[in-house]
Amino acid sequence: MKGNIKVVDIDYRLIVENAEEGIAIIQDEKIIYANPRLCELTGYTREEILGFDIKEAIHAEDLERVITNFRNRIAGKEAEEKYDFRVITKNGEVKWFHVRPVVIEIGGRPATMNFLIDVTDRKDFERRLSMSEKNYRELVENVNSIVLRWKPDGTITFINEYGAWFFEYKREDLIGKNVLSTIVPKMDTEGRDLHLMINDIAKNPQRYIHNENENVTATGRRVFVLWRNKPIFDENGELSEILSIGSDITDKKRIEKELMFLATHDALTGIKNRGEFERILSIEIGKADRYNEPLALILFDIDNFKKINDSYGHSTGDKVLKRIASTVSSLLRNIDTFARWGGEEFVILLPHTLMSGAVRTAEKIRSAVEDLGGEELPCVTVSLGVTLYRKGETTDSFLVRADRALYEAKGKGKNCVVSLY
Ligand code: GH3
Ligand code: MG
Ligand code: MG
Repeated sequence: MKGNIKVVDIDYRLIVENAEEGIAIIQDEKIIYANPRLCELTGYTREEILGFDIKEAIHAEDLERVITNFRNRIAGKEAEEKYDFRVITKNGEVKWFHVRPVVIEIGGRPATMNFLIDVTDRKDFERRLSMSEKNYRELVENVNSIVLRWKPDGTITFINEYGAWFFEYKREDLIGKNVLSTIVPKMDTEGRDLHLMINDIAKNPQRYIHNENENVTATGRRVFVLWRNKPIFDENGELSEILSIGSDITDKKRIEKELMFLATHDALTGIKNRGEFERILSIEIGKADRYNEPLALILFDIDNFKKINDSYGHSTGDKVLKRIASTVSSLLRNIDTFARWGGEEFVILLPHTLMSGAVRTAEKIRSAVEDLGGEELPCVTVSLGVTLYRKGETTDSFLVRADRALYEAKGKGKNCVVSLY
C-alpha cells in the first residue's frame, strides 16, 4: 500500500505540479495539498496555503453552497458535480473558480481532490452580458416611453409596463389585441382617419419613422404620442413586426393649442383677433377670385360706447363687449369668420353670401344687440356697414368700402345697416 502511494507520487507528481489547473486536496475542510498553479491563482505561498481552512478564502455569498456541496459529497449524498464560486485571494481580489471535485481517500478518511480553473474573465463577460440583458429589460420596463411591438395586421405582440399604464390597460388586456380596437381611435379630433394611417404604416413603415398622432386610452381619453417606428424584417426580408417607441406629447400639444389660441384670439371676448381675421380674409379672397364666389363683409361698431364706459364703468363696458360677441357668434354660420377688429369694432366675413343675405344677417345682429339691454346690462346699439367683394380688388379697398358703409350708418343716426356695393 505504501509502495503504491509512492508510485503515484513519483509518476503523477510532475503532472500535478505542472498542471494548468489549480489542484487542491481538501480534508476536514482544510487544504492538505495545493499545486503551484493554485498558489499562483490565490497568491498564497505553499507554506501559507497548507492547513488553510477553506472557509476563510471563500466569498461569503458562496460559502454555504461550497460547504454544503463539500459535506454532502464527503457523506456520499447528492452534490453538484461542478460549479462556480468566488475565492478571495491573498491580496483581497475576488476570483471566480470553476471546481470539479472528486472524492478520494487519504489515511483511511475521505477527502476531495479539487480541480480548479480560473473563470473570472468568463464570469465578468457573462455578468456583463447578463447585466446588459438585465439593463435592457429594465430599461424597456422603466423608461418613460411606450415600447410597443405590433404585427402588420395590427396585433400587439409586446407592450412595456409604462405603455400599458399610459393607455390605462392591463398588459395582458393589450397583448394579442389589435391596435385598432384598443389604442388607435378611428378618427382623430381633426377628422383624420387613423385606421387608414395604421394600414399605411404597416405597408410603408419607412415613411413613418417619426409620426405624431392621436391615440386613445382605455377610458376614452385622447392622448398625443410622438412615435418612432422601426420596421422589423424576418429572415426572408418580409416585414414581420413594427417596433414603435412613443413619447407622451399630450401636454406639449395642449400647450401648443393654447398658445395657438392665444395668438389668434382676442383675450376679452374669446373670438378671433384682427391678425387671424386678416389671415382668413386673404384665403377667402383667394377662393372668391378663383371660383368666382360671392364674399360679403360686415363691419360694425357700438354706438356711443364712450358714454357706456363713462356712465357704468369700464368693467360694464367689458361685459357689454363680451355679451355682444357671444350674441353675434350665435347668429352666424360655421363658415363665417367673426373677429374683434379693435376697440368696440367687430368684423364678419361671410363666404358664399350675396348682399341680400349679408344685409339680413346684419339686420338680425342689429336687432339682437338692441334687445340685450335690461337689468344686467345697459341698453346698447350698433351701426353696421355691409359690402360685397369685387373680383380682383385689393383687401384694403374691400375693407375701406365696409368702413365707408359703417360711417354712413353712423351718419344716418346709428342703430342701422348701410350696404355699399
Ligand atoms: P360712436 O357711436 O361714434 O362709435 O361713439 P363711441 O363713443 O362708440 O366712439 P368712440 O370711438 O369715441 O369711443 C369708443 C370707446 O370704446 C372708447 C374706448 O374707451 C372704448 N373701448 C375700446 N375698447 C374697449 C374695451 O376693451 N373695453 C371697454 N370697456 N371699452 C373700450
Ligand atoms: Mg363706437
Ligand atoms: Mg369705434
